[in-house]
Amino acid sequence: MANGPPSAESGGSIFEGATYLASAHSLRDLPLPGPPEIAFAGRSNAGKSSALNTLVRHKRLAFTSKLPGRTQMINFFALRSAAVLVDLPGYGYAKVPATVREHWGAVVSAYLAGRTTLCGLVVIMDVRNPLTSLDEQLLRWFAPRGLPVHALLTKSDKLSRQNAGQALALVRAQLAKLGPDYSVQLFSALTRAGVAEAESTLAAWLSSARLAQDEVIPAP
Ligand code: GDP
Repeated sequence: MANGPPSAESGGSIFEGATYLASAHSLRDLPLPGPPEIAFAGRSNAGKSSALNTLVRHKRLAFTSKLPGRTQMINFFALRSAAVLVDLPGYGYAKVPATVREHWGAVVSAYLAGRTTLCGLVVIMDVRNPLTSLDEQLLRWFAPRGLPVHALLTKSDKLSRQNAGQALALVRAQLAKLGPDYSVQLFSALTRAGVAEAESTLAAWLSSARLAQDEVIPAP
């Protein structure tokens, strides 16, 4: 179902009213684990910042830049509904020096591998060039964590309906090989196509994560 019921917590989108929480340059800087977190990853220039800004209905919450690869921090945004969105630095930008890439690879992989409150990963891919080898590397490497992954094929406005549909089917078939918790959809920051579908998937992750947290922490 594309449109889930509106969240009772916010009376509408669970993503409305997101605020900047923190930025981390290294593992030491990570905010203490709290509410469930959803991380956003993607190749530089894939459209990650635009997708995040569109989801939270904010023009510039996540930094959009014409210079791919400039955002080299993990940025945390708090939602009103006790959840956190995590903007990971984009990967695959050749002009970033190797030493910086390695440092960032290490910090991001440690975050993705170890963050206890992480409840799912959103991978942003340009619908015209999905599942690059770097995207595949990330997905394969992340699979053992057993967390759900949702792919947003963004910039869908750049393709005809037919071509976008073909790209969607192709990626869906590839992801199905990785496991049952992999989903994919079309998205456009320009037309806002796919916003409701993304919200519905992510809201379901957060609900399950909260239920799991409630089981771990007994009520007082
Ligand atoms: P990031 O590096 O992954 O954060 O990518 P950005 O969000 O900065 O987007 C990279 C470029 O793609 C920018 O010029 C955006 O305006 C453009 N862009 C992002 N999303 C869309 C979209 O849905 N449709 C179109 N037509 N352009 C987009």
